[in-house]
Amino acid sequence: MPRRSVLLALGGASLLAGCGDDNAAWHAGGELPDDSHSGDVASPDPAPSVIPSVAPPTPGRCPPIAGAGTPRRGGPQYYLPCKGTQIALTIDDGPDPQYTPRMLALLAKYGIQATFCMIGRAAAAHPDLVKQVVAAGHHVANHTYTHPLNLTKLPDAQIRAELHRASDAINTASGGHQPTLFRAPGGAWSAAVLSECGALGMRALDWSVDPRDWSRPGVQHIVDTILTRTRPGAIILEHDGGGNRDQTLSALAIALPRLVDAGYTFAQP
Ligand SMILES: [Zn+2]
Repeated sequence: MPRRSVLLALGGASLLAGCGDDNAAWHAGGELPDDSHSGDVASPDPAPSVIPSVAPPTPGRCPPIAGAGTPRRGGPQYYLPCKGTQIALTIDDGPDPQYTPRMLALLAKYGIQATFCMIGRAAAAHPDLVKQVVAAGHHVANHTYTHPLNLTKLPDAQIRAELHRASDAINTASGGHQPTLFRAPGGAWSAAVLSECGALGMRALDWSVDPRDWSRPGVQHIVDTILTRTRPGAIILEHDGGGNRDQTLSALAIALPRLVDAGYTFAQP
């Protein structure tokens, strides 16, 4: 059973602390990510000693990715429609003054267009960054206004407010970019979350390749996970906000050119 289905079935908020797209350090305080990252302890960041080879895309074939959620009608999207070489890169929890510009420069270097799942109040705090992301041709998705630890535990009115405020903030900051995709923090989906998402004209976006880069597991782990698990149709989850993202940027600088060289193309979900 997919990990997140287990979590939803159990309804376990405590389990979600270790789940996917999540950064408890600033969820708990209810504050914007600390721009200085003064609380971050520098972690060893050695270059990977071995870089795994990439399975090249096979046109017409989109094999399932072990551990990824199973698409259901009306449920969140875990994969792109199978078109042979296409994959998607999603970047969550920004915009962040320190890391979003570096991410934009890296993506521009390889001509990759990504989907930035932005937190509404971070977008409101950094409208210049939102505009830069949109101007570079990336899509901006709604990732709630405050990034609640478990959206499914909130009353319906609060869920609605989280989604509404984030879309409004992104629209205002960007000068008119209206999100059409919504990603729930931690992949915490429920019928109520999906309903509010649909009522605002947004599709629910999940992921199928998750190196848990937010937990700073090491550049080697992030590179290995991306390169060994990516298959045609994969939606890769990374982060440019919520803490120190040096490992994420170092890993993507290694992994992205290898995916491009293997024949993958980057598309919007
Ligand atoms: Zn997030």
